[in-house]
Amino acid sequence: MTTKNSAAPKIAIIGAGNVGSTLAYTLMLKNLASQIMLIDINDKKEKGEMLDIADGLCFVETGGVTGSDFKDAAEADIIILTAGLGQKPGETRLALAKKNKAIAKSIFKKIGRLKKTAVVIVVTNPVDVITRVVQQAVNLPKNQIFGSGTALETARLRTALGHLLKVYPQSINGYVLGEHGDSGFVAWSSVDVGGQPITKFIKSDKALNALEKRVKNEVYEIINRKGATWFGIAMVVTDIIEAVVFNQRKVMPVSAHLTNWQGVSGVCLGAPAVIGRGGVIKLWPLKLTVEEKKKFQTSAKKIKQYL
Ligand code: NAD
Repeated sequence: MTTKNSAAPKIAIIGAGNVGSTLAYTLMLKNLASQIMLIDINDKKEKGEMLDIADGLCFVETGGVTGSDFKDAAEADIIILTAGLGQKPGETRLALAKKNKAIAKSIFKKIGRLKKTAVVIVVTNPVDVITRVVQQAVNLPKNQIFGSGTALETARLRTALGHLLKVYPQSINGYVLGEHGDSGFVAWSSVDVGGQPITKFIKSDKALNALEKRVKNEVYEIINRKGATWFGIAMVVTDIIEAVVFNQRKVMPVSAHLTNWQGVSGVCLGAPAVIGRGGVIKLWPLKLTVEEKKKFQTSAKKIKQYL
């Protein structure tokens, strides 16, 4: 297929399920790629999604959407891992982690050597664990491989606060930090609304705790209603990819490899990082409260157990 925008990167999405195919669609709408490669172990599904999405090519600048082999991802500038199994009823997250770790390793083995400048973004859960596993399995510096971390929860927090305070969510800064999962937490000390600390607007701890609970439970509400989440995460990953493609140096709470961040090293965990063309350019320093720092360290301990 011809390429309309050859300066744009080639993006490979491994896993053409709910998240992978929705991501391919949002990337196409945003014209972020010269070529989008969809790769899945299920050829039939991969082809079906590819044909459906490619029907929109005459309305965008994206050059092509292709169903591809694992080896084709070796030429990609950006690789997104969304392949894996979902949690079965009664299955522990630890058991799921074991299976998805094996899947992630086998996928990168099949792909072989990646481009030296490639950036890998991990979405597959448990994302903090799988990101570290991919860092260990792939021939790239650690900063070129990171996970979506707590970017989704952070987007939920900003949107919820925007609704509550009647302010555009992009005027709200602040982060959910730590594990993408139950031990993640809102770092209220990092949250500001148009330059004013959140405590100017929401004064009681009870109200802040209730809001945090709502943000953290939203995933369960969506899963209860429709089985899984995919639109929100696709937008979040698109935003991260945009930061890489345009070297925006945006500060985003991704699952980055940590070296003495809040006293934590050797794991990947949701922490603010400057994201640009090379992936994680640097971790962003934050002055957390003593309690928040403890929560972050608790998340790190949990992820170390999974690893
Ligand atoms: P899905 O079941 O719809 O899709 C997964 C796809 O992976 C399937 O098409 C399957 O065929 C494919 N697959 C399985 N094993 C493979 C292999 N060895 N090689 C290639 N492809 C393989 O699941 P989904 O809803 O798209 O979710 C994908 C992942 O994203 C899950 O791990 C989910 O938990 C995770 N997720 C993460 C976030 C986040 O914030 N990080 C948010 C939502 C979902």
